[in-house]
Amino acid sequence: MPLKLQHAVKSTMLPALLDRYGRIFNYARIALNERCNLRCTYCMPEEGVDFQPPEKLLSKNEVSRLVRVLAAAGVNKIRFTGGEPTLRKDLPELIATSLHTPGVDQVFLTTNGLLLHRVADQLKRAGLTGLNISLDSLHADRFKKITRRAGLEQTLDNIKLALAKGFDSVKINVVVMRGFNDDEIKQFSELTRDNKVTVRFIEFMPFDAKQLWCEGDYLMRAKDIVAKLHGLYDGLMADKGSETEHHHYRIKGYQGAVAVIPAFTRSLCRNCNRIRITADGQLRNCLYSGTDYDLRGLMRRDASDEQLLFQIRAAVGAKAIDGVEARERSTSKIAVSRISMTQIGG
Ligand code: SF4
Repeated sequence: MPLKLQHAVKSTMLPALLDRYGRIFNYARIALNERCNLRCTYCMPEEGVDFQPPEKLLSKNEVSRLVRVLAAAGVNKIRFTGGEPTLRKDLPELIATSLHTPGVDQVFLTTNGLLLHRVADQLKRAGLTGLNISLDSLHADRFKKITRRAGLEQTLDNIKLALAKGFDSVKINVVVMRGFNDDEIKQFSELTRDNKVTVRFIEFMPFDAKQLWCEGDYLMRAKDIVAKLHGLYDGLMADKGSETEHHHYRIKGYQGAVAVIPAFTRSLCRNCNRIRITADGQLRNCLYSGTDYDLRGLMRRDASDEQLLFQIRAAVGAKAIDGVEARERSTSKIAVSRISMTQIGG
């Protein structure tokens, strides 16, 4: 029977996950699946991608075990992602179990929000700290063009529902693409006038299963989005956001906030505090890294918690200084096998 780490948690926390640049990793993004009820053009094609078979995906117990092992090494913030995590029936239970894990303070969710009305009460009861809802256009025709599905009204209703439920944090993730939705930056920012919501404008990233990235210059860099915001609003007040919200502002008199995430420019890497675990149980020490550190295999070969942690520390220890270096290194066959954000977990 693998030795459990509970004792360690009870007594003292294990040394933190530290890389050779002195960064501490206390935030784990864990993908719960690869499948999704949308087909966003900046993520995957209509036919989907080469989805892992169910038996290759992490089970509920495996996810909970990884949360426990990570928490013992100082990870106190968990974000469940996907695919679309609300498609997973055990999501509320995973949230509750994670929040009852010694060391874990916060559990967040990233979702497209389309099914939120079906699970909001359970998520609230499970203690979910907050959620980020992906929405890239406020126009029904554009919503359909980018997601290849209808659903704008439902998503907007579910954002209102999330705000009404009183989660500590409700954010809207907008992937800005030049010539597609960059003319909606004002409209999205206006959502923060009367709502305690953070609208996060995110740079387009090259994990679109080779759809748009190589086609045209859809990339609108963070500095251009920031310049646009300053052009739209006098009295844009700089404010502190989360580690990735490199640029974070409040518009005078508005309830919420706007943020800009240089996810492709990668000028935020010195503050990096996150690791990712894919739905099939592979640790990625950077979004742009092409190296998988197999945790699922270890668990299924009855490895101990120490052996798991050894692999996790090895992955963190090998982390590149930033996402640019990570991408340069990622030329291996494995690297190119994860071509869509849904295979990495966002
Ligand atoms: S690109 Fe990599 S190093 Fe930079 S913030 Fe993202 S995960 Fe961290």
